[in-house]
Amino acid sequence: MTALSIKTLIQALKSFYPADKDFIALHEPEFKGHEWDYVKDCLDTGWVSSVGQYVTDFEKKLAELTGMKHAVAVVNGTAALHACLKILNVSQEDEVLLPSLTFVATANAVSYCNATPHFIDSEARTLGIDCEKLADYLDKIAVIDNEHCYNKHTGKRIKAIIPMHTFGHPVRMDALKAICDKYYIDIIEDAAESLGSFYQSRHTGHWGKLTAVSFNGNKIVTTGGGGAILTNDEQMARNVRHITTTAKVAHPWRFIHDQTGFNFRLPNLNAALGLAQLEQLENRIRLKRALAAAYAGLFDDIQGLSFVKEPEMAESNYWLNAILLDNPGQRDELLQETNDSGIMTRPFWDPMHKLSMYEHCPKMDLNQTEDLFSRLVNIPSSAWLGEPYA
Ligand SMILES: *Cc1c(COP(=O)(O)O)cnc(C)c1O
Repeated sequence: MTALSIKTLIQALKSFYPADKDFIALHEPEFKGHEWDYVKDCLDTGWVSSVGQYVTDFEKKLAELTGMKHAVAVVNGTAALHACLKILNVSQEDEVLLPSLTFVATANAVSYCNATPHFIDSEARTLGIDCEKLADYLDKIAVIDNEHCYNKHTGKRIKAIIPMHTFGHPVRMDALKAICDKYYIDIIEDAAESLGSFYQSRHTGHWGKLTAVSFNGNKIVTTGGGGAILTNDEQMARNVRHITTTAKVAHPWRFIHDQTGFNFRLPNLNAALGLAQLEQLENRIRLKRALAAAYAGLFDDIQGLSFVKEPEMAESNYWLNAILLDNPGQRDELLQETNDSGIMTRPFWDPMHKLSMYEHCPKMDLNQTEDLFSRLVNIPSSAWLGEPYA
């Protein structure tokens, strides 16, 4: 095996990007559609806050693009995850399985419900949950009683699991669903990064009871800040809408609330921006997939690393492109050198089981998580970079 020459890699990247740019961001938002018109319309009509036609239109468009029956817009992706867990009554008595290799919001949402995050390992081929390893693990630690699954070491119920589709690459949801059916574990999909990603020809989100999406500024489309909950279950959609709008009971003038709800509703102003963005999703994915294909060709000729490609049976939105170095010892030098040369890169998130507030949580062996963390680097992925290759 030939070692990676960081100098060669940086030269290759520099010649890959437009010569007139001295800084290439990791992922930039782009506003090339009806954003100005729709936002101006909110200001002109005065409908800027939590009621308005754009919220409805945004939800409708989102349901249409994902093929899901219901979409409820909320203030951000973290709130979406929090609301999903609440709807499934996840509480202090419960553990929730999730990959250690995720953005902190996934674990935080579990903590907001006073439940315990329980960390599981990820695999190189999807960068998401390793289903075979999970099946072996549950075989050892789970006991089933009356259609409930318990962790025999802690006595707590394992109520739910949150697969996260890393950088847009789908988890093997058919395999995961079979395991969860066997153990009576509810699935909530963290699809914050996978809007526009499909697995076995169905949009990510179709396997979970509930699915959370994010429209933060760095995601594939943005509402400034925002999120949504997707579901095919009408009753759950009604419940989600209720608890995210202060649990207010419909009444012409009184304010009656029938539980402790949340003020998670997305403002009309943000939905207006989001609707214009969703109209461009298809084209953006075309550009991002072209960029990924071009990167794959570029890295074929460079020794000492591999480019992360979409999993089998999946069509990824390639939200963030990534490379895996053969030698973890070169990661920090590469991060330093690229960022110093105006090419923005970053490592994986520090795994959850290494963070002070989560280091005492239950976990399985996480050797693949630690290996992936030590070798992965995200590289510039803005959609416009794909234009010359589309
Ligand atoms: C972005 C993100 C979230 C949270 O979304 P916000 O809108 O920033 O709250 C949750 N999970 C993952 C994996 C994310 O990437």
